[in-house]
Amino acid sequence: MNTRALPLETSSFLSLLDTHRVFDERLRAHQEALLARDIPAARRHFQVLAGELRRHAEFEERECLPIYARAGKVPGGPPELFTGEHRKIGQFLDRIDAMLAAIERGAEETTRGALAILDEEATLKNLLSHHDSRERNIFYPKLEEVTTPAEREHVLRMAERLELAEEPEPPFRTIIEPFRIKVVEPIRRTTRAERRAAMIEAGYNLFGVPAEKVTIDFLTDSGVAAMSSAQWASSMLGDESYAGATSFFRFREEVRSWTGYDHVLPTHQGRAAERILFECLVKPGQVVLSNTLFDTTRANLEALGGIGIDLPHPRSASPQDEYGFKGDIDCDALERALTEHAGRVALVLLTATSNMIGGHPVALSNARRAHEITKRHGIPLYLDAARIAENAFLVKLREANQHDRSVLEILREFFSLAEGATFSAKKDAFAHIGGFLALRDTGVAAKAGSRLVLTEGFLTYGGLAGRDLEAIAAGLREITDERYLQYRVSSVAYLGRGLSKVGVPVERPFGGHAVYVDAGAWLSHLKPAELPGQSLVCALYEEGGVRACEIGTAMRGAGGSHTRELVRLAMPRRVYTQAHVDYVIETFERLAPRVRRMPAMEIVEEPSYLRHFTAKFRPVPRG
Ligand SMILES: *Cc1c(COP(=O)(O)O)cnc(C)c1O
Repeated sequence: MNTRALPLETSSFLSLLDTHRVFDERLRAHQEALLARDIPAARRHFQVLAGELRRHAEFEERECLPIYARAGKVPGGPPELFTGEHRKIGQFLDRIDAMLAAIERGAEETTRGALAILDEEATLKNLLSHHDSRERNIFYPKLEEVTTPAEREHVLRMAERLELAEEPEPPFRTIIEPFRIKVVEPIRRTTRAERRAAMIEAGYNLFGVPAEKVTIDFLTDSGVAAMSSAQWASSMLGDESYAGATSFFRFREEVRSWTGYDHVLPTHQGRAAERILFECLVKPGQVVLSNTLFDTTRANLEALGGIGIDLPHPRSASPQDEYGFKGDIDCDALERALTEHAGRVALVLLTATSNMIGGHPVALSNARRAHEITKRHGIPLYLDAARIAENAFLVKLREANQHDRSVLEILREFFSLAEGATFSAKKDAFAHIGGFLALRDTGVAAKAGSRLVLTEGFLTYGGLAGRDLEAIAAGLREITDERYLQYRVSSVAYLGRGLSKVGVPVERPFGGHAVYVDAGAWLSHLKPAELPGQSLVCALYEEGGVRACEIGTAMRGAGGSHTRELVRLAMPRRVYTQAHVDYVIETFERLAPRVRRMPAMEIVEEPSYLRHFTAKFRPVPRG
C-alpha cells in the first residue's frame, strides 16, 4: 500500500491538524457507502479511518504529551483531558465496527443498523470536532511555546513517519470481468418452436435437451468453467505416465498446501471421492450427519445402505432471512443427533458452501464448534470442499474478525478442523473434470487407496489424465485470487438483484455460485407436488433458451427434510458476461405477467437414483 507522509518543511505543529481534515473525508466516504448499502465498502473505509485515528492518538500521547506536560497547568487543557478523549474516541470506533460487523453477518437488518451507526457517528463527529478545536487552540500553541528547536525537529520527524494509508479508491459501480476473452465459442440461437420441440422430446427434462439448443446455460457451474491460459499451458506439461507421473506430484503438492493432509487420492469427480470415503467408513444402517448433503453425496451414501441426516441451521428455513451463514450446521441439533444415534454415526460431513440450500456459506466459527462437538463425541468430521474457496471468501466478507485474513488462511483453517475432505475439481478448481479425496489418517488412506485402484485407476492418476491433474493444480492456485472472488460474488449478486427488481422472489443473501429462485413463492398457485420448480425451468427454456436446474420436489422426491421449491441459476466460472446475465433477467421479466398460468407438472417415468437427471415429466392437462 502506498503511504503518504506529512510534509516536513512545515514550520508549525498546527500543520499536524491537517490530518483531521483527512479524517473528515474518510468518514464521508464511509457514510456514502453506508447509504448505498454497500456494507463491505463502508466497513473498509471505516477501518482505514479507525486505524489512522488510533495511530494519530498514539503518536500524540507518545511524542507530544510528555513535552506538553512541561507546560504545567494549562487552563482548559490538562493532559488527562486529551488522553481521556482519545480513549473515548477509541470506544466509539470499536462500537461502530462491531455494528458494521453485525450487519455484514446478517445479525442486524441493514437499514436499521445503518441508522443506528449514523446516530453513533453524529456523536463521534461532535467529539472529534471538540477535540480538534481544543488541540488547535490550546494543545499545539502551547506545545509550540515549550519545545526546544531540537525537540521540535524530532516531533515533526516522527510525524513524518506517521504513515497515513492511501485513501481507499472509491469502489466502481461497474463490475468488470477480471479477464480478457481469448477464445470464443459461438452461441447458436434457436426459435421458440425449436425449443418447444426439443423440450417435448426431452420429456420436459432439461437434462435431456442438447446443449447446442441452449442459449444461456445456468444448469450447473460444474465442469463448465473457462480455463485460463495458464491452465491450458500447464495442460501441455501433462505427464501421461501410468505410474508416478510428474503431474501427480505437482497436483499432490497443491492439494497438500491447501489441506495440510498427507494422503491425496485423485478421482475422476467429486462423487467418486464420496463413494470411496463412504465405502471406507460407513456400514449399512449407519448414519452420516451433515449441514446438507449434496444430491450425489446422499445418493452414494444411500446406495451403500447408509442414512443421511441433514441438520441445517434453523435460519436457513426462511428465504428472506439475511443471516449470512445459512449454510451452518445446527450445532444443537448435532449434539442431540450424536446422542440419539450414539454408536451408529459414521461421520459428520460439512458441505461448504451448501449447494442444496442457497449456496450459503458455513461460518468458520460454526466449523470450529462442529469440530469441538464431534471431537468430544469421538466422531470424525469431514468436509465436502467443492466450493471451499468461495466459502472462505464469504467468511472473509461476512464473519467478524476474518477481514484481515487471506482467503487461503481461512480455507486452510477449515481443513485443519477436519479429518479429510472430498473435492469436486469441476467447481472451485476451474477444471472440466476431476476431484480428490484427501485424508489425514494413514489407515483410512490405505483402505481408500485399494478402493481407488479397483474402480478409478492407479494411485497416481485416479481416473484422470496427466493434463487434467495439471489443470486442476493450476486452478487451485487461481481460485484463491481475491480479486477474482470479489468479481465472482459480485456477479452472482448482480443477477440476484436484477431478478429481485423484476419481482422474482429469490433466496437471500446471495451466495457464491448461484442465485436460487423461490419457485414455490413465485408460482404460488402450485403445490409442491405439482412441481412448480420444474414448471418454471421449462418456461425459462421455452421463453429464452435459458437452462436452469430445479432443486425441489422433482429432484429430491416428496418428504425430504427440505421442502423448498427452488430453481437454481448456477453461474459457470468466467464464461458469461454481464450482457448474458441481463438477457437472463429479461427472460424472467417476460415471464412475469403469465407466471400464474404456468402449468402443474407431473412425473411420467423415474429411475431409482438421482431421478432428476433422467425422469420424464409432462404438464398436467388443465381440467
Ligand atoms: C458437484 C458437487 C459434488 C459432486 O461432485 P461431482 O464432481 O459432480 O461428482 C459434491 N458435493 C457438492 C457440494 C457439489 O456441488
